Amino acid sequence: MEFNKEQNIFGIRVLSDNVIWIWRNNKSAVVVDPALAKPVIKYLKSNNLDLDAILQTHHHSDHIGGTKELIKEWPNVKVIASKKEKDRIPFQNLSVSNGDKLRLLNKEVEVIEVIGHTRTHIAFYFMDKVPVLFIGDTLFSAGCGRIFEGTYKQMYDSLKKIKLLPQNTLIYCAHEYTKSNLLWALNHEPENQNIKNKLIEVEKKIALKELTIPFLLEEEMKINLFLRADNLKIFSYLRANKDAWV
Ligand code: ZN
Ligand code: FE
Repeated sequence: MEFNKEQNIFGIRVLSDNVIWIWRNNKSAVVVDPALAKPVIKYLKSNNLDLDAILQTHHHSDHIGGTKELIKEWPNVKVIASKKEKDRIPFQNLSVSNGDKLRLLNKEVEVIEVIGHTRTHIAFYFMDKVPVLFIGDTLFSAGCGRIFEGTYKQMYDSLKKIKLLPQNTLIYCAHEYTKSNLLWALNHEPENQNIKNKLIEVEKKIALKELTIPFLLEEEMKINLFLRADNLKIFSYLRANKDAWV
């Protein structure tokens, strides 16, 4: 469990490489993509926190697996998910679309549709002193999500939307894949000093059992080959290459 002091955002590691994010104030909390319920319940109860909302970026079981049990525990919780995903996220009770604005924990949140990994994937953008983006499985540090349901073009356009956000945006993704992504990237750009430095930094964090997430958009622009891809052709080549890389 790790604590981002400035943002009050905690990450709980579950399953093999998932991270559940909990954003809290003194009284209540918002949980992003609860793969499992138990560790979330334990954290919230031991900190006397009410669960105000569950944010679902997409329907995969490693993102919604704990939601039903959390609803049992907090029957009034808002379950926020894409309006287009009512079949696969049936327990949603606040259905949202691209561009919708909500208020959570006294902050404004904007829904941004970022399709590609699935055909309805959404992200949640909190406008704060340091803006925060919960991006689910669309972007990872030094990588991006696999394209399961969308097209290369859709994923490429989703990454373009992310690039337009303020450069100081802190990005919280749902998987700890950073090290293997960096090794893949280094294979492509062996001379890229930024990637080399990031790998050293990440290895240190891993040795200390720390998370390598969140990451800053500005820094990601230097090391993420998918964000740096100048056109769809390069992006598609990289994505296919990464799919085949072990
Ligand atoms: Zn997924
Ligand atoms: Fe996932």
